[in-house]
Amino acid sequence: MSDLKGNNILEKMMHEAERCLFCFDAPCEKNCPINLPISNFIHMIRNKNFYGAYEKVRESHPMINIAGFICPEEILCQKECIRSKIDSPVKIRELHNFLTLNFVKNQNLSLSPYKYEDVAIVGGGPASLSCTFFLRTLGYKTHIFTEEDIGGIPFTEISNDRLQKEIVKKDIDFIKDNFIYELNIEKVKSIEGLKKDFKAIFIGIGLGDETKLEIPGIDKDGVFYARKILRDLKNGKEISLGNRIGVIGGGNVAFDVANSLKNRFKEKEVFIIYRRGLKDLKCYPEELERAKNLGVNFYFQSSPIEISGDKKVEGLKVSQVSLKESEREKRRSFELIDKSEFIIPLDNIVVAVGQEIEDGIFPEIEKEDGLIKIDENYMTNLEGVFAGGDCINGGQTVTKAASEGKIAAFKIDEFLRRSK
Ligand SMILES: Cc1cc2nc3c(=O)[nH]c(=O)nc-3n(C[C@H](O)[C@H](O)[C@H](O)COP(=O)(O)OP(=O)(O)OC[C@H]3O[C@@H](n4cnc5c(N)ncnc54)[C@H](O)[C@@H]3O)c2cc1C
Ligand code: SF4
Repeated sequence: MSDLKGNNILEKMMHEAERCLFCFDAPCEKNCPINLPISNFIHMIRNKNFYGAYEKVRESHPMINIAGFICPEEILCQKECIRSKIDSPVKIRELHNFLTLNFVKNQNLSLSPYKYEDVAIVGGGPASLSCTFFLRTLGYKTHIFTEEDIGGIPFTEISNDRLQKEIVKKDIDFIKDNFIYELNIEKVKSIEGLKKDFKAIFIGIGLGDETKLEIPGIDKDGVFYARKILRDLKNGKEISLGNRIGVIGGGNVAFDVANSLKNRFKEKEVFIIYRRGLKDLKCYPEELERAKNLGVNFYFQSSPIEISGDKKVEGLKVSQVSLKESEREKRRSFELIDKSEFIIPLDNIVVAVGQEIEDGIFPEIEKEDGLIKIDENYMTNLEGVFAGGDCINGGQTVTKAASEGKIAAFKIDEFLRRSK
């Protein structure tokens, strides 16, 4: 992203705002998970009402500082921008970020007094914080119960190269100062327990476990799981790794870990090892570009078979695969090619093949396909217990999680008013 605080930025951003066509149906907004009033805030920028534009964004999205840096705009709002039919899409995220970096005014809101009862929020990530934000705005007392301090994945795992902790802290502090009635740092073990004290509960626990890779040799020294490494990198911990590191996976987490490692240890060789092909990758296009620029290498169509070495990793045996278009799946299906195995010499292996809801968590809550099951009102099988974010959608984006927390807040409001 270009420097949004430097000289000439005002001129550049005014030029960018001038490019907006103010489409009557604003397709950009429809493709924003939280439906930011994009054409409206761009219009305000055009009229040099910068503080007003900032307020517009702030009141619609509780994580505006985070979103300004890591919202994948090329697959969301900007993907649908009509301006791309003329030349290129309006740089919506840059305009958004320009506002949040330059036009913050009052961070201590004087919200109206509490009108309604207390609601429990389980979790401290974007989904829960968004639910808190909108419930407090509606007049509820919000009690957060979270295993560790608030912020969720953006605070603990998304690499500092893409999202500095100070940026996340701006959103966290704003929410702490204005929207949280009571913050309890504790892991919730049972929802039934909380139900005794609260008529409505929101669950936003994310995906606490990493999907295990079950191949021979997985327990050897030198094998890590991605999110543990990301946490250590985010906290600036010492990490001891060899010269050749293989990252297994093709999603955002795999790319975040590969790019962070390559950026931190420039002299080491980092490989993405993925069983499908380039066009099947599930990472953001921007992250793929970054990987190429950083010098990350790739093994495509290579399916892990076994980790070789005595006690410690010495390599990864993979089989080549053939890919076929599949009617049932979006991505191509794959088949191992007979006698095509070879060994990639490696000193370390990082597994990044997916995330799952914490094993055995909240048995009283019904799950479907490994995720918390909700109805059209975001309510679980337990009356008055709602859920949103990664634990219902399987892991998408910060803004998607925030939008689900927002919808759930309004559904909780409806529920509590109905049951009076
Ligand atoms: C490495 C990585 C990179 C990513 N990059 C991007 C990106 O660039 N852009 C983007 O938009 N999205 C990105 N995402 C996705 C995004 O971070 C998530 O979609 C989002 O954080 C989900 O929010 P959440 O609130 O549902 O869950 P989380 O952020 O996981 O928060 C869950 C919270 O619940 C708490 N918790 C868990 N269990 C309990 C319990 N039993 N009791 C109390 N508290 C509990 C946890 O401590 C945590 O605070 C990335 C994700 C990862 C893993
Ligand atoms: S789609 Fe593009 S041009 Fe149309 S309103 Fe949105 S930002 Fe402006």
